Amino acid sequence: MKAKKEVNLINGGYPLHTFDDIKDIYSLYITDKKDRELIESAYQYARKKHEGVYRNTGEAYIHHPLEVAYILARLHVGPKTIASGFIHDVVEDTDTTIEEIGKQFGKEVQNIVDSLTKISRLKLSRRGKTVNFTAEDHKKILLGMAKDIRVIIIKLADRLHNMRTLDGLPQDRIERLSKETLEVFVPIAHRLGLYAMQSEMEDLALKHLKPEVYEQIQKLLDSKMRYRRKSLDALMKRIADMLFEKKIKFEITSRVKSVYSIYKKIYLKGHTFNEIYDIMAIRIITDTVLRCYEIIGLIHNVYKPIPGRFKDYIAVPKANMYQSLHSSIVTGDGNFFEVQVRTKDMDEVAETGVAAHWKYKEGSSKTTKQEMREIENKLHWFRDFVAMSANTNTDSAKDYMDKLRHDIFDSSVYVLTPLGKVIDLPAGSTPLDFAYKIHSKVGDQAVGAIVNNTMVSLNTILKSGDVVEIKTSPNSGGPNEGWLKIAKSTNALAHIRKALAKKNSGLLKDKRINKGRSSLKETFAQNGFSEEEMLERIDNKKLFEYFNVKSLNDLFVKIANHNPSPNAIFEFLHLKDKRSATIKLDKAKKINESPVIVGGEARIAVSLGNCCSPIPGDEIVGYVTKGKGITIHRINCPNVQKEKERLMHAEWRDEDYLSTYPVSIEIEANDRNNLLTDIMGAISQHKIPVTSITAHLHKESTTTSIFATIHVSDIKQLRDIFNVIVNINGVFAVDRVIH
Ligand code: MN
Repeated sequence: MKAKKEVNLINGGYPLHTFDDIKDIYSLYITDKKDRELIESAYQYARKKHEGVYRNTGEAYIHHPLEVAYILARLHVGPKTIASGFIHDVVEDTDTTIEEIGKQFGKEVQNIVDSLTKISRLKLSRRGKTVNFTAEDHKKILLGMAKDIRVIIIKLADRLHNMRTLDGLPQDRIERLSKETLEVFVPIAHRLGLYAMQSEMEDLALKHLKPEVYEQIQKLLDSKMRYRRKSLDALMKRIADMLFEKKIKFEITSRVKSVYSIYKKIYLKGHTFNEIYDIMAIRIITDTVLRCYEIIGLIHNVYKPIPGRFKDYIAVPKANMYQSLHSSIVTGDGNFFEVQVRTKDMDEVAETGVAAHWKYKEGSSKTTKQEMREIENKLHWFRDFVAMSANTNTDSAKDYMDKLRHDIFDSSVYVLTPLGKVIDLPAGSTPLDFAYKIHSKVGDQAVGAIVNNTMVSLNTILKSGDVVEIKTSPNSGGPNEGWLKIAKSTNALAHIRKALAKKNSGLLKDKRINKGRSSLKETFAQNGFSEEEMLERIDNKKLFEYFNVKSLNDLFVKIANHNPSPNAIFEFLHLKDKRSATIKLDKAKKINESPVIVGGEARIAVSLGNCCSPIPGDEIVGYVTKGKGITIHRINCPNVQKEKERLMHAEWRDEDYLSTYPVSIEIEANDRNNLLTDIMGAISQHKIPVTSITAHLHKESTTTSIFATIHVSDIKQLRDIFNVIVNINGVFAVDRVIH
């Protein structure tokens, strides 16, 4: 809110929208005269209140609420939401009181603006300070938003526009806002299925936090797209011709993966750029669900699908309500594309998620509360979010944020009850987590589980799509200590601890002290600390105060009751943070260093020869090239046999499980139907990426040569997969290729 400065920053370079632009949109779905007047008067009100004030980017302040309202109108939200969007900063930034808003615009708008104001107040108190937002701040933001979904949507629109216009701000604030966007607002947008908003916020945050990385990925994307555009266009045309001939209604478009989602795959999940199958996807939109299946069937009939990559999110929607059919197909020219097929309604949900359901319908007699309840029924996690947010007096802010992040934002396994209800759980969850999610009694009395009609033990890791049923018995004896190692969700763990504490209360005090002491000892030992070191560290005044105990024995009794857990003690002493920080550093270092030691030196940059594609486990030599440094070859590679004087001793570093290496292979087989599909299926079943595959039929001998590039981590994995391939019906040879 400084005076006008550099003109080129205006609105972050985005076009400025006028009130008429917004009116053009909402007039399409809001016809009631009073509703239209409400919106118009909110705009006029905000204009007057913010008069004479300018944003950091140079334009008059009113452009911020205008853009926020524009984003909202595009989501087809109701008149009160748009009106609230216009005046969301009035109480915060001018001397207007919240009561005045109530008088002018009614109670509902007052409540929305009040929640929004409280959220920004909290952040204002931290502006200018160099500290990061704390868990306490984030908790308050989330609590404010959990009350009314409209508050969330406005807050997200507000944040999105602020992210577009960061350029006028000091660098440290840009960084804090970007980080906060990734930590708090992106997970919410994701869980609400507001995909377009989420991905724009992610890309903007990455662009400001890591400009070099952002640019590098953008460049990779551009070059990949140039290279594959032709193949994609040809495929789209062929599919369009096919559907047209069948008289099927459709729209066909293509989409490119966002920069941030590629960043995530490469930097957080450790994939290489070539391993990402869905960089470019074809999207086909049709009119009915049945048509979707028909279309994917027609496509699979012509193009080979890559086994294991067909996903039916129509039958089993994602937790954020996303529905679509996905498949990856091989085009025959060595390219892979993802194909997405869905109806128009599904497409709308895919782009705007909850907002598509929240879309304003005139004449609907439903109250906001009723609509909120409907949303909660569809977004099953939202109920957990509201419930978790409602009773947080007992949780510290950090616990609340951790719980939220772990159990809701990061949950990624969707399993089904026998009646088909979707239950979402954190990754790595077991039937115990499922049982406690159904009901604490089901958890406490669990004795076994049936997963996909098979009896399994309680520590089985669940996968998305599993149908889970819990066997209970009133004589189960209840939770035992071992369950704490089996359960993954905070909810289940809390229930188990509670039940164990109840059991413990029957024990003598001495026994409880010993129990607590030995379980703490175990945790410390697992992390490489002796009992003496443990005792030395826990005899600590601050720790006693924090956990509210008077003596070591008190502490041991509490630990025996799992409140706190041994891990909490460990974490309080910050022992874990230090340790995992060094582990992370080691990993990072490893990636930067070369996988090969040449002449006894690990820091020499090398490249692996494209001709013989060496992998860990191969005997190798270094070859000093003219101008391109040292390339690594397999010791018997014919390309380096001539000039022995240019060879250097080279060996692999210790196993490095993080990387995979491309290997060209050739498979010889007798030709038959589905040969390629079976081979792809076998390879992908072993989770080995394939980045190209071509087949040549030898007509005279009816044999086929298949050339593929697969990615493996070492020679052992390669031998294993060769074994699998050679056992496929019809295959008689498989070998590495030297170019
Ligand atoms: Mn604002």
